[in-house]
Amino acid sequence: MQNNISIVGGGVTGALLALNLGRSGLDVSLIDRGEPSKAYPNLYQGRTTSLNLASIESLRQSGIWDSIQPHSKAFNEIYVWDAEGSSSIRFHSSDINRKELGVIVHNNVILEAIFKKLIDIPTVKIIENEGLTDISTSTDKIVLTTDAEKTIISEILIGADGSLSKVRSISKMPVRTWSYHQIAIVSSVETEKPFNNTAFQIFTDTGPIAFLPTVSGSNEGSLIWSTDEVYGKNLLSIEEDDFLEELRLKTENRFGKIKLKEKINSFPLHQLHAKRFAQGRVALVGDSAHTIHPLAGQGLNLGISDVTELTHLILKAQRYGNGLSDLNILQAYSKRRQPDSYKMIGLMEAFKRGFGSESLWIKVGRNFAFNFANKTEPLKQRLIKEAAGIT
Ligand SMILES: Cc1cc2nc3c(=O)[nH]c(=O)nc-3n(C[C@H](O)[C@H](O)[C@H](O)COP(=O)(O)OP(=O)(O)OC[C@H]3O[C@@H](n4cnc5c(N)ncnc54)[C@H](O)[C@@H]3O)c2cc1C
Repeated sequence: MQNNISIVGGGVTGALLALNLGRSGLDVSLIDRGEPSKAYPNLYQGRTTSLNLASIESLRQSGIWDSIQPHSKAFNEIYVWDAEGSSSIRFHSSDINRKELGVIVHNNVILEAIFKKLIDIPTVKIIENEGLTDISTSTDKIVLTTDAEKTIISEILIGADGSLSKVRSISKMPVRTWSYHQIAIVSSVETEKPFNNTAFQIFTDTGPIAFLPTVSGSNEGSLIWSTDEVYGKNLLSIEEDDFLEELRLKTENRFGKIKLKEKINSFPLHQLHAKRFAQGRVALVGDSAHTIHPLAGQGLNLGISDVTELTHLILKAQRYGNGLSDLNILQAYSKRRQPDSYKMIGLMEAFKRGFGSESLWIKVGRNFAFNFANKTEPLKQRLIKEAAGIT
């Protein structure tokens, strides 16, 4: 099989890229070892994501926002507080003259909207239940082999195959990685007190807890509890009532009684970034290029920005340049996207260290920083714009 572009990984980033390029008439193969096209009927299950305004705009440009919006929950406030100190900060959309700061949506909702469009694009071939096993490159093409022994020849290959990317490892693209020594505990919750369209982030002595409103109801939300490994494993081993009591205490009873709505999931947290996002005929997007701590809810937002940039560069080269034979496109992509990713990694690390510290001075500094940011309007506005992705 021969095409212009192969994309390995049909998660949100890979599928969105296939949609953008396929809509413009490029021949694309989208390969996934699972079945991401079968998100329906489990739309409200699995991972939820907060999408910032920049990502919403990208999804609108791709023609899928109208299908996603009815299944998403807009939030207009982010409330962050430090359970170890006395400080808090509130970001409201009205501070930047917007109606909302972003939405919370299940990844499956986004996948469903993308694949509904993809199946009608004749130039996009969706290959599911087949994993990548090998890659070989020559001067003018790249050849992939799948575990069903299919061979696919392309001009360029995009790795969108997540944090443990095989595209990245087979291509020997160097990475920097370290463990956060934390695990993420995720579930859906029902709370006694309503969310009031607010996304909450609580910094505790054992790691940050995020409570995000969801479309299911005003008292329902997603829990993402990032905890130190030992404490987290202990939490996973105790009875549900004890777990909920600990959660109530850690969140200072601000949500009232909390109930779990689904089974708890957990996974280890690590930071990883590729030292370059492109090499020869290969480029990486999304978590295969950068995997960051979930505390600021920015991983997929970064990935969607990768897709937007790469789409722009590829389509520009098709219209005005030498098409895909110009591998400078991929180098340009790498150069443009790396700074955003490094900035986010640095920020997450600063948060992790700042809030993970037992030092009294750091605690005092945190209080001061929160109070200062809260009272300094230009700084506060910059922080809000940064979170909403509109800087
Ligand atoms: C607890 C938690 C909460 C988060 N919350 C947020 C948030 O609020 N906001 C936000 O922006 N981000 C958030 N993130 C990050 C976000 O979920 C990820 O950045 C995003 O899902 C990555 O998308 P992706 O398409 O790059 O990769 P993935 O979703 O990992 O998709 C990779 C795809 O590649 C396929 N694949 C893998 N290997 C192969 C192979 N060898 N051959 C073929 N196919 C393969 C897989 O089947 C999968 O479909 C969160 C992350 C965590 C852990």
